[in-house]
Amino acid sequence: MLRIRNLNKIYAGKVTYQALSDITMVIAQGEFVGIMGPSGSGKTTLLNMVSTIDLPTSGEVLINGKNPYTLSKRQLALFRRHELGFVFQDFNLLDTLTIGENIVLPLTLDKRSVNEMDERLECVTQQLGIQDLCNKRTYEVSGGQAQRAAIARAIIHTPSLLLADEPTGNLDSKATCDIMGILERINQTQGTTTLLVTHDAFAASYCHRIIFIKDGRFYNEIRRGTNRQIFYQQIVDVLALLGGNTDDVLPIRQ
Ligand code: ADP
Ligand code: MG
Repeated sequence: MLRIRNLNKIYAGKVTYQALSDITMVIAQGEFVGIMGPSGSGKTTLLNMVSTIDLPTSGEVLINGKNPYTLSKRQLALFRRHELGFVFQDFNLLDTLTIGENIVLPLTLDKRSVNEMDERLECVTQQLGIQDLCNKRTYEVSGGQAQRAAIARAIIHTPSLLLADEPTGNLDSKATCDIMGILERINQTQGTTTLLVTHDAFAASYCHRIIFIKDGRFYNEIRRGTNRQIFYQQIVDVLALLGGNTDDVLPIRQ
């Protein structure tokens, strides 16, 4: 579904910085994969290469067999709008719109009919338990509710790949639990391939597989068995070996 081959990213500037070195990975259709690593290890850079927000220096990204970087600007915009869904740490909802208007935004951009938008809105808000929030403003809802709305917006056009960069980074542990349960359910029921960047071991324990990177290089990979608690402990163990900023690892949640 997603194939990344020998990906390198060098930020040019006063000082050039190699943020990614020879990253190669294959993610199967329907997989739920976590990317972990210390602060500055290149997680966001990697996600930006996959999401086509930024250009790789070398290497290849194939999504459903297509190389988004060979598309024209217009084709790329369409590709992003149809194939990808994004969730960010700070929700990225527009304050001038209601929650409902935020959620249907991808369909508005695609000039879908009002009927279709209403139907899809009803469907996703029901799925996420936020039907009652549609007429509210972004400042009237909690962080957890705002992130549910952002997820609704990210999946309303049924993307084939959902990309989430620290989606629980601004949430308390209860909201984190909620949001991870929601992402897990979307993955299970709709088969949406999901790539999650997080430095929270608890959030990561919902994934099927975790790829660890350090200093822009592949470091290790672990797969979940049947038990999430055991997987959580394994993740904590790898993070301890990985080192880096200890703030990223602690506090350890149960
Ligand atoms: P992470 O998400 O794992 O914390 P990032 O991918 O954001 O890491 O950053 C990886 C490294 O690349 C960091 O050292 C960061 O300072 C550097 N970096 C990120 N974006 C840029 C940029 N636009 N220009 C220069 N350096 C950057
Ligand atoms: Mg980051």
